[in-house]
Amino acid sequence: MVQSEVQSEVQFDNSYARLPERFFTKIAPEEVPAPEMVLFNTELAAQLGASDWDPAVFAGNVIPDGADPLAQVYAGHQFGGWSPRLGDGRAVLLGEAITEQGRFDIQLKGAGRTPYSRNGDGRAWIGPVLREFIVSEFMQAAGVPTTRALAAVRTGARVQRERAFPGAILTRVAASHIRVGTFQYFTAQEDLEAVKLLADHVRARHFPEADGTLGLYEAILAAQARLIAKWMGLGFVHGVMNTDNMAISGETIDYGPCAFIDGYSPKAVYSSIDRQGRYAYEQQPSIAHWNLAQLGSCFVPLMEAELGSQAQAIDALSEVLNRFPALYQAEWRQVFGAKIGLADAGEDDVALVQDLLALMAKDGADFTNVFHGLSDGTARDWMLDREAFERWSERWQARRSSDYAALMARANPAVIPRTHRIEQAIEASLAGDDSLAKRLVRVLSTPFDLAEADRDLIQPPAEDEVVAQTFCGT
Ligand code: AMP
Ligand code: MG
Repeated sequence: MVQSEVQSEVQFDNSYARLPERFFTKIAPEEVPAPEMVLFNTELAAQLGASDWDPAVFAGNVIPDGADPLAQVYAGHQFGGWSPRLGDGRAVLLGEAITEQGRFDIQLKGAGRTPYSRNGDGRAWIGPVLREFIVSEFMQAAGVPTTRALAAVRTGARVQRERAFPGAILTRVAASHIRVGTFQYFTAQEDLEAVKLLADHVRARHFPEADGTLGLYEAILAAQARLIAKWMGLGFVHGVMNTDNMAISGETIDYGPCAFIDGYSPKAVYSSIDRQGRYAYEQQPSIAHWNLAQLGSCFVPLMEAELGSQAQAIDALSEVLNRFPALYQAEWRQVFGAKIGLADAGEDDVALVQDLLALMAKDGADFTNVFHGLSDGTARDWMLDREAFERWSERWQARRSSDYAALMARANPAVIPRTHRIEQAIEASLAGDDSLAKRLVRVLSTPFDLAEADRDLIQPPAEDEVVAQTFCGT
């Protein structure tokens, strides 16, 4: 590994690296044999000032000027079970770029072993790297807070999973990589000073308006309520909503065995390791609530210091936590209201949305195509029980807002990253052809406007194309 001789245009200011040493381990990425660019996000690179970076930087072989690489420590509840020490086992944070849009972490995911790797190899293979690139950039384009993808490189090394695959590294850009699990780590250590420092760091970075510990907690809850409602509106199933995979900033993070629903079922679950359906589509709001309760426990000592009594601290935090379901419901009404062209969906409109969803669930109708098809009259083509749909449609037409077309145009993407397409892109890349991956990134960057030539991408999987599960073998 060499320090870059080229002066990078990225303005680094590494605030996390200035926290006490127990927050991280300074460590450089492990060198790889043959970096090769697969996908590069030109627009994001320009925003960050990273346009001049060589593939060797994205592979971890060259450290750009001003970077201060480190692996972050965190803990987490994984499928409900407590893991006291996780941390970046295969990711290295290069540093924080200062841009006109704010401060962004630049992290290499798959950069080699760290002190938090446990039995892992610290590496990623091209499949999950492409999946995260495609899905996260779609989320951004669809208006969902998310970490972003700057580059995907092949490393030239093989990575052993079910078999040997080409190794790859994703350069991920995020408002920060601080998780619910970061707070949990220090809480479990009974390191109150660290919890306080972390809360101050999070406030300064993400919620500068938040007043006191309670205000901070409220702001984090509001961001999560908004985020989960937006996921639901796209039929997105995250797949691994462990507390270490919930970003404090309110961005979607850690795209593992995630998927978008094709034929609607509220019970949809895709992860091969989620046998109980803990992280099924319809579970996501209550899982978020549960995760936020864990965060609330971390805030108790901070609150106690402000209020003087633990009982009062718990009461105050619980009161905020208990408001989460209503907060989420309000966000959900807004998201799904817009999807059917209602400007200010109220309590009375919930039934109208729920009735459509129930019809869709009964038929396993295509989630994306039905909602998008409400705009151009093709929705009924995706339903089996067309009579029931027509009856619903009459109620809907009597209720929708005057500007319904404009509302819906921004709420219902024409195209989503369908699992079978992503799998086809991965297969093609394994055979040496990255063109489908590139096409998906391009088409999904404007998901509300689909060119005629790309209409094949709206098709749900044919029977022999269905991918039932995405695997955690990341
Ligand atoms: P994830 O399920 O991707 O959120 O990862 C959970 C934990 O396992 C995190 O601490 C990761 O850093 C770690 N991890 C996942 N894959 C690997 C790997 N291949 N090598 C080392 N650590 C890993
Ligand atoms: Mg994770």
